Parts: sequence; structure tokens; C-alpha cells
Amino acid sequence: MAYLATYRKYRPKTFADIIGQEHITTTLKNQIKAGQISHAYLFCGIRGTGKTSAAKVFAKALNCLNPNEQEPCGVCSCCVANESDAMADTIEMDAASNRGIEEIRQIKESVKYPPAMGAYKIYIIDEVHMLTMEAFNALLKTLEEPPQNVVFILATTESHRLPYTIVSRTQRYDFRRLRLEQIQSHIETICKNEGIAIEERAANRIALLAEGAMRDALSLLDKCIAYAFETVITTSVVDTVTGRADDKMVLEMMRALFARRTEELFALIQQSFNGGSDAATLLGTMIACLRDIIIVHMPLEAHSMLLRDENTVSQMKVFSEFVSQKELIRAFDILIEAQSKMPFSSAPRYVLECALLKAMQNETERVLQPQPIKSISTEQTKPVFIEQNSAAKTEELTNTVRETKESAERKKIASEKEEEEKQQETINDEEPQSLKKKIVAELSKKSPFIALGVENADLIIEKNRLTMLLAPNDYRLIGDDMRLRADVVLAARQQFAQGEEIEVEIKVKERDAEEEFKEIIGDILIIEE
Ligand SMILES: [Zn+2]
Repeated sequence: MAYLATYRKYRPKTFADIIGQEHITTTLKNQIKAGQISHAYLFCGIRGTGKTSAAKVFAKALNCLNPNEQEPCGVCSCCVANESDAMADTIEMDAASNRGIEEIRQIKESVKYPPAMGAYKIYIIDEVHMLTMEAFNALLKTLEEPPQNVVFILATTESHRLPYTIVSRTQRYDFRRLRLEQIQSHIETICKNEGIAIEERAANRIALLAEGAMRDALSLLDKCIAYAFETVITTSVVDTVTGRADDKMVLEMMRALFARRTEELFALIQQSFNGGSDAATLLGTMIACLRDIIIVHMPLEAHSMLLRDENTVSQMKVFSEFVSQKELIRAFDILIEAQSKMPFSSAPRYVLECALLKAMQNETERVLQPQPIKSISTEQTKPVFIEQNSAAKTEELTNTVRETKESAERKKIASEKEEEEKQQETINDEEPQSLKKKIVAELSKKSPFIALGVENADLIIEKNRLTMLLAPNDYRLIGDDMRLRADVVLAARQQFAQGEEIEVEIKVKERDAEEEFKEIIGDILIIEE
């Protein structure tokens, strides 16, 4: 048996089949019931929301010989003719391919003749905004003096391109973008009917990618069915079919981006391209990932906006602990800008790579071009060199910074400033020792071996900042593991009323000055809020 695309097979046959547009279907049915049919309708809305389907159902219902509560019966001669596209009284025209005045003249000519089979002659003009101005003028004449029993249904994705004179002579209906759960549930119903196995997460991902357009969702579903070929449709099938990098890989890219590991990032991009991804899809996936990491930072209620599995969300949470909102938003902004440039570029991949380099470079430029010493405001609450650290994470940079004369100067100022701050008001009067005990007690519940490391640490409490100096061995253990660092930061913040506002720095205990400097530049972890 020939395979029929789900989009065609599940095309709505009745008003009840049209999903998510009840505000329109109910009104149309009421008009049929009251016998108050307008001469011209305008169906507006984004692609794939059911405008043409609704127009066809409406046309069928208007001419049905045996309607059931204003729904077309589907079995009378008119309905059967309509369903096989053989109805003489339903005339469809695609304005995208027939834009000229000649086509409209033909319509003007044919409206003079009465309907052949049913009560109404119905003209459906799809993509009506594509008509030429001459054609619009000709159409306007017909709309101004509508013949008896003729109904025009104009459909468009771009109503703003229609002349006001046309719009004002129609009854306008705006089709809504479909909600994610409406699309997902429709996909699941279709798969159930067709005996196709699909993971809930995969159905969710298809619905997400369709961005409110059912037709796009079903067309993607068809591709997945063909690809999976009688096996289960999983998220990785969806990712492969769409050429989309999977969540894990995109998170790895984000890690490389914020750690300024250019080589690793570019290798991952290459890997993704080898897997069939293209620049636009990859950029879109990265933007979506960044957006979700930003949401992870928000209060729990906002997390319902996240359409990812728990595992990915928890990885994002750990990740978000180590990158400031400011940095995330800056990268988000740069990538969005690149997305707007991409369609006009003949080398989209370069646009992507350039944007990523820019996102990585901004901070480092600040390190290499320090502000004049005098301009450093005393109102700054953070030592200046701390800002460098968040950016300067590569060995090359360490060397550059070390070679830069100014950096030594900056460090000096920074230390002075740090001294000054130490004398300022502290977070509370708590002694470092008793604070440490509390943190250690908290950590012991979860991971005793980190607690041991913290027990040997020195704590410095300053205004809104807690610096934890770990012994080199402990630092190597905790410093290399994002999760362990996150646990320490969390346990420390829990001890303060200000909680999240407290900056927690984890450093290695001072040895000689040169070694410490290298350590700070190379490995330090910064948490900005
Ligand atoms: Zn019928």
C-alpha cells in the first residue's frame, strides 16, 4: 500500500478536527446556523495553523446536503466531490503562482454563473497578499458588488501586505499559533492510530521544533517515521533528521565557549557539521541552549518554560553556577545578532564562528587593554584583577598577561584595593572558624571527602564575598570538578542570610607570589551574580 503522508491523511475533514482554533470554528458554525453568511472572509495567521483546512471545511459545510449540527456529513454527493477535489463549486487559487490580473478576470467572469451542485460558489484564494496591485483592484470590484451566493475566502500569512480597501470588505479571522501540548498530543494520537512507537520526549521535541505550526510538525513526523523505519522514534532520531546537535553536545560547546577553549569549540562544531548539521540550525540550537541556561538562573516557577529533560536541566543548573548572568546575556546577544546576519551571508558557517570568537573575545580584550589606573572607581566593590581572571583561562593568555607590564600594576592596585575592602564592613560578625565549622557540617552530610578539604582551608570574609583558600592538594581535587565546586559554593551560601548575593571564591593557598599569580590566572573560579 502506498504510504500517505500524515499531513494529507490527517487533514481536517470537519470543524471538530481543526485543532486550536475553536474561536473561529464556533463562529463559522454559528453563522451557518443563523444563515448569516458573509460574502468575503479573511483568514490570517502563521503558516501551518489550519487556514486552508478551515477554508475547505467551511466550503464543504456550506454546500453539504445533509449537515449534522453544521458539520459537513462527509457522505453526500457535495461532500464526496469536495473531498476528492472534484467539486465544481469550490474554486481554489494559489495567488503565489497566479498573481496576475488575468486570473482575477477569470474569477470575475465565472462568478456570474450560479453554483452547479450546491447552494454556494466558493472561491478560496491562498496567499492572497501575493497578488499584484492590478489584480487587487480587479478583485476589489468583485468584492464591492458581490454576486448572489458567492463566498470568497482569502487566506494569508501576511495580512499587513493587503490593501486596506480589501481588508475592510472582509470578515477577518486570526488563526492562533498552536500550543506545544496541542501539537504533541496530536502527534501522539497519530502515532497511536498508525501503530508507530514514539518516545514522549521525541513527540515533545517535534512539537517544540514546529513552533506552533501543525503542518511543520507533521512533515517532520513523516521524515522521522521514514528514518526510524519501524523502530521507535527517539529524540536522537529527531535530532538526526533535523541535523540538530544533541543537548549533550551543545552543552559541551557552551562549556568550551565560556572557558574560552577555542580549539575544542571549533572541533565540536566540525563534529556537528560532520553529523549533518548546518550553521543556521546549530546557531539556533546554541541560542536556545543559552536562553534555557538563563532561565535556569530564574526562580523555580520559570522552569516550566524549559522544554528539556531533567538530566539536561540539572546539567544546565551546574553550568549556570559558574557563569554570570552578564556573561550569558552578552553571548546570547552576540549570537542573536549573528542569526539576523546569517540569511544574507554566502558563508553562514563563518558568521557562526565569527560570532563565537566575538563572544569569547570581549572579556579577554578587557584584560589586555586595562583601563587607565586613575579611572578605577573606588565605588567598585570587586578587586580589579578578579575581572581578568574570569576571562583569562588559557595558557596563552596567562603568558600574555604575565608579559604585560600593566598587569603587574593592576595586580598591585587590586591587592591594595582588596586590603581596603577587608577593612570595610563584613557580611556579619561571624568568625571564620565558626563559619567554617558550619560549612563543613553541611558538606559532611553529602560528601565527607570534600568536607575534609574545606576543613583544612582558610576563610576570608569580606563584604559580600567569601574567599576560600584550599591547600594545593584539596584544590586540585575540588577545583577540577564543577559539581564539587558547586556543592562547596552552595554549602557556603546557605550559611548567609544574603544567600545568592554572596560571591564565593575558591582559591589555592598562597605559596610564593609567582606561583600564586599563575594559579589565579590559570585556574581561578569566579562566581558573579
Ligand atoms: Zn455532506
